[in-house]
Amino acid sequence: MLLYINWDGFSRHWYEMARLQGQGTPNLDRMIARGAYLANHVCGLPAITNPMQQTLVSGAWPVDTGNCYIRFDRKARRFVPTGRTNRCENLVEAARRQGLRCASVHGWYFENRGCAEGNEDSPYIQNNLPNFETRVALLLSYLKGNPVPSGDRTIVMRRRPDFLAIYADDIDSVCHNAPRLPYTELRRARTLDEWYANLVYTVQRMDRALEPLLALEDTTIALAADHGGMPFATEAFGVPYLAASIPRQGELLHAIQAVGIDPFVLTEKDQLIPEDAPAVLLSMGTQAFFCALKPMPDIIARIQQSVSALPFIRGCLDAVRQRAYGAPPGFCDLYILTKAPFFLSHEWPAEGWVGGSHAAMDPSVLEVFCALCGPGVRSGAKIAHRTDITDFAPTLSKLMGICPPANSTGRILNEILEEEV
Ligand SMILES: [Zn+2]
Repeated sequence: MLLYINWDGFSRHWYEMARLQGQGTPNLDRMIARGAYLANHVCGLPAITNPMQQTLVSGAWPVDTGNCYIRFDRKARRFVPTGRTNRCENLVEAARRQGLRCASVHGWYFENRGCAEGNEDSPYIQNNLPNFETRVALLLSYLKGNPVPSGDRTIVMRRRPDFLAIYADDIDSVCHNAPRLPYTELRRARTLDEWYANLVYTVQRMDRALEPLLALEDTTIALAADHGGMPFATEAFGVPYLAASIPRQGELLHAIQAVGIDPFVLTEKDQLIPEDAPAVLLSMGTQAFFCALKPMPDIIARIQQSVSALPFIRGCLDAVRQRAYGAPPGFCDLYILTKAPFFLSHEWPAEGWVGGSHAAMDPSVLEVFCALCGPGVRSGAKIAHRTDITDFAPTLSKLMGICPPANSTGRILNEILEEEV
């Protein structure tokens, strides 16, 4: 069996932090020692859950999956969310097409995309569980042959699946410092130290829940993440609280206006845009989308220059640079991202709390955790060269002895596989 564990928001930086503190991360360390670790593994842009999760399961960037979180529809003059769109075949669809049995525990990207509620042959198993440890208990219960909820009925495993997926967003919730955190022991962070302490606690607690999974017989385990995270609106990295807690959208707008373009600023993403607006600007937390409504090829480059000079900006990416990170053409004309701990606009009332975001391109966002161990995986393989999340699905396919998902563009990482696979 191949067990795909997805820890939403698990930056490699959070692993490096958690393994050195307190009780450490013995199970993750064991996975790495026994198997393979991708030490230079990155996601793409936009570094947002839906696009990056679909990239992981299909081995294809948003340019192919069509999932880029939001895109500007020039005809309708509106920003359109891309939801759970995935135009590409995914791992479960590929595995089932080639005769394998699959199941998914809270792995929503396979819901009605290979797995379905109530389908005993390929179930989507979900019980509104709050965290990884409760979801692991559900998975183990399923493997033991106990009845488990799947939609409005319960199902029982008849034969062990060849491919089993489990998803948990504990780390992502803690990064966002959401009002509801995955463990009752956690309190929302008011300082950067508390924010990091919450992340370390969560990674270590998830590490403990890994133990029974590592003990499963004849099981190859692959643990991956869609993106990492970064703090904002808090004193951090030498930036005092006062400077970090000001929304920077006004300054961004001035930098665009300085070039002679006065974009219409949307306050909500589905707002109607006036007929005479030359361009639009939509800010959401640590990211902003600039779209021209009139041809202005030379001006885009000048806006890019002007915005890039702002001290709180990490990246102002035109279509060519967006494409290099996997984003599709027509996503927006300029994708603008702050550096930690700055932000452009409040996404929700976060006053007094540390903000956490991954709609960014800081190293702690783009550098994600990935490790594999068990049958088929080379023991002790530490991969220092650059790999990315499109390589994940093709590599898992090889481990299952099947062809990769039809549209995958990633590479089979033969360097981490045993030769006989
Ligand atoms: Zn995510």
